[in-house]
Amino acid sequence: MARVVLRNPRREVEVQAPTPVKVMLRELAIDPETVLVIRGTDLLTREDVIAADDEIEIRPVISGGAVNVSKCRRCRGQAVIELQRHNSAFCKECFLHFFREQVRRAIEREDMLSPTDRVLVAVSGGKDSLALWDALIELGYDTTGYHIVLWTGEEYAPESLRHSQAFADERGVKLIVCDLKEDMGFSVPDLPKVTGRPTCGACGLTKRHLIAKAAGDLGFDVVAIGHNLDDEAAVLLGNVLRWDEEYLARQSPVLPATTDGFVKKVKPLYRLSERETAAYAFLRGIDYQVEECPLVVGNTQMRYKGVLDEIERTSPGTKASFYHGFLERGRGRFTGSGPPDLRTCASCGMPTTGETCAFCRMRKQHGEHASR
Ligand code: AMP
Ligand code: ZN
Repeated sequence: MARVVLRNPRREVEVQAPTPVKVMLRELAIDPETVLVIRGTDLLTREDVIAADDEIEIRPVISGGAVNVSKCRRCRGQAVIELQRHNSAFCKECFLHFFREQVRRAIEREDMLSPTDRVLVAVSGGKDSLALWDALIELGYDTTGYHIVLWTGEEYAPESLRHSQAFADERGVKLIVCDLKEDMGFSVPDLPKVTGRPTCGACGLTKRHLIAKAAGDLGFDVVAIGHNLDDEAAVLLGNVLRWDEEYLARQSPVLPATTDGFVKKVKPLYRLSERETAAYAFLRGIDYQVEECPLVVGNTQMRYKGVLDEIERTSPGTKASFYHGFLERGRGRFTGSGPPDLRTCASCGMPTTGETCAFCRMRKQHGEHASR
């Protein structure tokens, strides 16, 4: 018998061994394209065989795929990961190379970074942002991490900080930590009842504001965030379903700096799927937060991701062609209403269209609610 640990939520099962990975997955009714199969520090392919006494972890990741090739496309060695949408497989070293190459290409194509830029990397402690930070370090960029303790769950928030801090300590890079409750007097779960905004909306607004403000105040040239292909495709699907021309005009892996104080913002993982970032983080030995944010369950973006995953399962590559097609042929067609007339927020000094910015208005609402 081999012991198999399933994650998210965590449960354990025993399976008859020896048995090929594909048979085990079939018996557990798990779609091989939605998980990483891990033994110790190795990733297993569908063709690998699980031995008796093995301890296997099955770690869910969204999207991606698996094919019947088990030779590395680059070096013909034993593959550890199959990428169906690229119709190929890679060994560990070649996959790490492939991943960084995708990041490098993203940076070059979209003119994201120059070699001397001081980059503030927004890190959540999850796979995407830590994989991003690692790849940027490996590519030689001057990076500093920025983590916000959002107080989204008793265990989740301190764990997220711990993963981010451990990464920074191991690599001897600097992590700046902002504690929302300490610095602002409120936390994300407080916001919906006060502001009427959905939790994820209020959290997103808070993150965007604090990250942009920190980058500006601390004199960084660029902010890098960990949004990947799955995130961007899900946002695009939402924008298309609503035909939101303003958002379609602005959706881009690069948001340029504005003269009035917004620092340039880039998403160097836009060419990589969630499964690929998970595999990269794992193969680099990054101990990331595997659990999802407890507040995110069932939000709109997750549902759009589910729909895209469903399509991807039967037509691998659809997600990438949907998003890349938009970048190449779609985005130029939406002009929106042009750059808004911005002034300075009376309260925090950030650019805004109104008297005070949306974040400061939310903060004020919370203050009024709390003093009632
Ligand atoms: P999410 O909104 O959780 O999908 O995260 C998108 C990106 O925002 C991540 O890849 C990070 O770059 C950044 N981010 C998310 N949470 C945090 C956090 N607590 N502190 C700093 N950056 C974050
Ligand atoms: Zn403000």
